[in-house]
Amino acid sequence: MKGRVYLIGAGPGAPDLLTLRAAEILKRADVVFYDSLVHPQTLALAGNATRIPVGKRSGRRSTAQKFINKRLIDAARVHAVVVRLKGGDPLLFGRAQEEIDALRRAGVEFEVVPGVTAATAAAAELGVSLTRRGLSRHVAFVTPRAADGERSNDWAASVLAADTAVIYMGAGLAEAISAELIERGKLGTTPVALVENASLPERRVLLGTLAELPALALKTEGGPTVLLFGEVLKAALTLASPAPAGEIEDLLKRA
Ligand code: SAH
Repeated sequence: MKGRVYLIGAGPGAPDLLTLRAAEILKRADVVFYDSLVHPQTLALAGNATRIPVGKRSGRRSTAQKFINKRLIDAARVHAVVVRLKGGDPLLFGRAQEEIDALRRAGVEFEVVPGVTAATAAAAELGVSLTRRGLSRHVAFVTPRAADGERSNDWAASVLAADTAVIYMGAGLAEAISAELIERGKLGTTPVALVENASLPERRVLLGTLAELPALALKTEGGPTVLLFGEVLKAALTLASPAPAGEIEDLLKRA
């Protein structure tokens, strides 16, 4: 084997939320296989590379995972620096393990470069710490979405147990998420935040309660969105917040 495959986290969207290590490897890259949420300016760093989209967004056509695995291995046979560029952190909800397993089986050297994940980018938008002394020492990153043929998990149990929960790939399931959590005992008044396009200029923050989650989700515009749950979010209501003033006043009345 000639080359090495770098699984790189591109961060949540903003091109300057990329690690220096990632930028340095991209500059040396011969070929880059990238996901659909990767910013064009991030890709532009790989000026000498062939850039190949293998994007997956739920509900849209995707390049089959096995095919991606194979292309990474084939590329490493002919190139020195092969990059697999993924949104956020590559090791969270990115199917990286399937790629890592395939690379290991094929005897291809690889290295992982972490990135800023959507949950922490969203917390940054809110100006709210996911952990907080006396209030939150248990944070869960969860998705209710299962791939075809994958067994379903008890995502709701994790949300119920955690002090703060962040749901990935959940905006389209907001109604079912809200109904299940309330049925299983979570208070309808639990503070909720939706953050769409965290770190990008078109970012959007919606604040409310668990009971209001379905209505809030209808206000999103199809960008990548995380849902956050927990008492720590009350801090977003009392501090200066990007949410429209009317919404904040409503929330303060109810808090
Ligand atoms: N590996 C990625 C997650 C991939 S799953 C990471 O670590 O962030 C894709 C999901 O991530 C989206 O459905 C959405 O829930 C979330 N996401 C990605 N980018 C986002 C962004 N800029 N703002 C809000 N959510 C985002």
